[in-house]
Amino acid sequence: MTAENSFAETDNLLDAMASVVGEANVLTDPGHTADYLVDWTRVYSSSALAVVTPKTTAEVAEIVKLCGSRNIAVVPQGGRTGLCGGGVPVAEHRSVVVSLKRMNAIRSLEPASRTVVAEAGVVLEVLHEAALEHGLVFPLVFGAKGSCTIGGNLSTNAGGSNVVRYGNTRELCLGVEAVMPDGSVINALTGLRKDNTGYDLKDLLIGAEGTLGLITAAVFQLFPAPIVRTTAFLSAASLEAALEILNRLQDQTGGGVEAFEYMPQPAVDVICKAFPETRRPLEGAAATGILVEVTSSRPHDAEEMEDGSIRLETEVLELMGDLMEKGLVLDAMLAQSDQQRAGLWKMRESILEAITRSGPSFHLDISLPLAQIAPFVEEMDREVARLGFQPLTVGHLGDGNLHYALSAAEGRDWDQLPLETAKEQAYALLRKLKGSFSAEHGIGQSKLSVMSELKEPSQLTVMRTIKRALDPKNIMNPGKLLPLMLSDNETPRPARH
Ligand code: FAD
Repeated sequence: MTAENSFAETDNLLDAMASVVGEANVLTDPGHTADYLVDWTRVYSSSALAVVTPKTTAEVAEIVKLCGSRNIAVVPQGGRTGLCGGGVPVAEHRSVVVSLKRMNAIRSLEPASRTVVAEAGVVLEVLHEAALEHGLVFPLVFGAKGSCTIGGNLSTNAGGSNVVRYGNTRELCLGVEAVMPDGSVINALTGLRKDNTGYDLKDLLIGAEGTLGLITAAVFQLFPAPIVRTTAFLSAASLEAALEILNRLQDQTGGGVEAFEYMPQPAVDVICKAFPETRRPLEGAAATGILVEVTSSRPHDAEEMEDGSIRLETEVLELMGDLMEKGLVLDAMLAQSDQQRAGLWKMRESILEAITRSGPSFHLDISLPLAQIAPFVEEMDREVARLGFQPLTVGHLGDGNLHYALSAAEGRDWDQLPLETAKEQAYALLRKLKGSFSAEHGIGQSKLSVMSELKEPSQLTVMRTIKRALDPKNIMNPGKLLPLMLSDNETPRPARH
């Protein structure tokens, strides 16, 4: 195609899209599009023919058809808090970014069936608030809750701190409405818990990072809001001891552990350095620090005991005493007020920002069988320290997910450190211990090379077959998730983050 033809075709596409969504909702001015073309990490940025902000599913379908007929890539976008470069275009493809931000209605919330139907652009925290108005919770929780959207959460199958109790986004979702690459719409918002009528298409779209279709709405389960909670910061004797503590707490509280977060001392230190107003949870150092939250919606657990204490808290305290006697817990503090609880969670949720502020770093988002976490951390910490790195690890320990970050050790120059060697060692150890190289953040652009190296080839083949069948023109978010060569101009990209 000549440059002239290409300009004419672009103009024609922009006009056609404007006639669908209105001119004001087709952004082309660099001053207006800049924010949409870079993600939270600021590692990935690119250009697009336009950023389009449709308001309805029918509009999304029209936009996808218009792009498809011209072989223009469609890049779905939510809150741009993804950490793998999935929500911004790649340079190899002429793209239109479809931001779902105007599709932000909560279509219905049924307290009786404990379900909610929300559009893809609803911000996670807004969904939290809507559920709480009915004494219910939507239990997906993590640091980006004020900006990320449920469309992004579904597309990355986001996890967070409550997975130990409620599961990932996939487990919370009962159905989706989506626009497929040919512009057809699938509508599976019935909210049925049982529906064995063939392949479960929602499960294809969840975690697909926008490569198989564009999610426009979803129906989710809601849960009773806790009426009592106990939040504590513990110093565990070791990671093995931490897992025993988790199991004892689960046994004692009938599976009431809502969060069990690994926060070793270097992580607490980096937060306190980046945010000096942070209150250290314990006076002494906690090599294996754990932020734990136990909750209950049972009135029995919220009862006041004869001595004025609350039953759940008393039970947790008694158990802590027992675990201290056994040497599993070395020290502990229980949050005595909502303010103290909020302080502990603020500390946990500011870790990524704190690491980012502290200098260059590389982040692994991995999962391991619970029993292999201690061996992994022990060996990796030893090896990376030898190479001159300071590991800054936190993790959703209760579900086996570690965020293992590498930064330069005191006095070392990041640019001189053997990062590739450290990565190779980490991936080799992960493979040996049967872990996953992507636990909850997805693949996006950043893990394409690891995906091609470490994902079982037979699984990659099935994924490519599905992608080709549903999106033969490769218009849906190309260059993400699958290290495949659907078109000549698509090559796997090296990891940059
Ligand atoms: P975006 O970043 O906009 O997009 C992410 C991917 O989804 C892209 O591939 C995009 O194309 C696709 N997508 C977006 N919307 C749609 C749609 N409607 N249809 C189809 N595809 C779509 N993640 C966790 O899992 N657990 C954590 O604990 C966690 N903590 C975080 C803490 C911080 C401080 C930050 C910045 C991020 C964290 N994340 C975490 C990562 C991120 O918040 C999640 O991946 C989130 O689900 C992304 O949502 P988003 O709306 O920002 O999506």
